[in-house]
Amino acid sequence: MTVSLGDPGTVIICGDHFDGHADSLGGPIEVLVRDERIAELAPSVSRPPGARVIDLAGHTVTPGFIDCHVHLTMDASQLSTQLLDSAATKALVGLRLANDYLDQGFTTLRDLGSADPEWPTIDLRSAIAAGTVAGPRLVVAAHLIGSTGSHADVGSLYPPRWHLPVSDPADGPAAIRRRVRREHKYGSDWIKTTNTGGYFSPGDDPTRVTWFDQEMQVLCDTAAQLGLPVAVHTGAAQGCTQAIACGARSLEHAYLIDDEAIALAEDAGTFIVPTMQMTAEDLRALHEGRLTPYTAAKFERDAEQIFQSQRRITASRVKIAYGTDCGMFPFSHGNLEFQAMVTAGLDPARALRAATGTAAELLDRNDIGVLAPGACADIVAMPGDPIADIAATAKVDFVMIGGQLRREPQQPRP
Ligand SMILES: [Zn+2]
Repeated sequence: MTVSLGDPGTVIICGDHFDGHADSLGGPIEVLVRDERIAELAPSVSRPPGARVIDLAGHTVTPGFIDCHVHLTMDASQLSTQLLDSAATKALVGLRLANDYLDQGFTTLRDLGSADPEWPTIDLRSAIAAGTVAGPRLVVAAHLIGSTGSHADVGSLYPPRWHLPVSDPADGPAAIRRRVRREHKYGSDWIKTTNTGGYFSPGDDPTRVTWFDQEMQVLCDTAAQLGLPVAVHTGAAQGCTQAIACGARSLEHAYLIDDEAIALAEDAGTFIVPTMQMTAEDLRALHEGRLTPYTAAKFERDAEQIFQSQRRITASRVKIAYGTDCGMFPFSHGNLEFQAMVTAGLDPARALRAATGTAAELLDRNDIGVLAPGACADIVAMPGDPIADIAATAKVDFVMIGGQLRREPQQPRP
């Protein structure tokens, strides 16, 4: 008979901590991790024989960060050629990006769509969940659903003669139902749709709505019947209003949202994922002349209004979740969303909640985004105090996911 001695556990001594829900740091604390969960969290925890002790004095410990809007299999810097890569290439590159991002403290990612006829992000999610490969927890909307010529229809990047299978637009209720049901059939956790144009697509416009109300309603109703929440890429205030009225769970970007739509989102409990760093990246690219002419024209026209909308969002009571759109810009800049949020007027503690407690609420998970006994041991730490200086969030040097130690601070040289 073999007797398993079990995991003796790891004790983490935290100089300070943020629990995922509070308005402020909670002071020094100790965390006992056993197997994949937090077993104890108290000023002083038990020290099981053989337990490893990690001293993070001078560090602030938080729940692992959650990025609610990434594209692991889309690279905007070379989109029209990269989209033609095989699904396997996309998955392998995406795995590398996901692990690099995990090392920056992002232990859960919601991927909002590939542009591939196959299912590379579903395969990635499932391989990580099965332990076949290491990586962050993934929550996946496999493809973008949109109308012909919409922001989701990346086939518009190519001349019409090619009919490349990089998107599969749907027009009208029957086609939309079929697309939602197919996402469900092959394992999407979320439904992603676009109901206005965007900035990086050639033939559409963020100020124009691309679904009829009836089409958006059919999409949301079909998703609801299957138990799938809906995330909506949206720009114009009218698009935000349509998405809220039809029951979307999150508005992505909400570039041009107005006070009326924000009030509707507050009342409906709709989350906003404002992707503010992307606007900062776009502004820099505009000034450096790196935007394509069609992107530059739309973005230059709207930039001031986007920044106004960001300030409206941060001044409201709406539920704000952290999301970046990484893939549209480098994952190495994804941790700058914290600073972009604070620059737009968000209270630093609310920015931390956006990436922890509020993001977990968006994902309907009460076992992540929180430091509490019983929660998944997704734990990160950074030197300094992120509420006094939000830039500390870009200095994460300790990462644990599901109780597995991924990264720890360099020991000073003797
Ligand atoms: Zn996106």
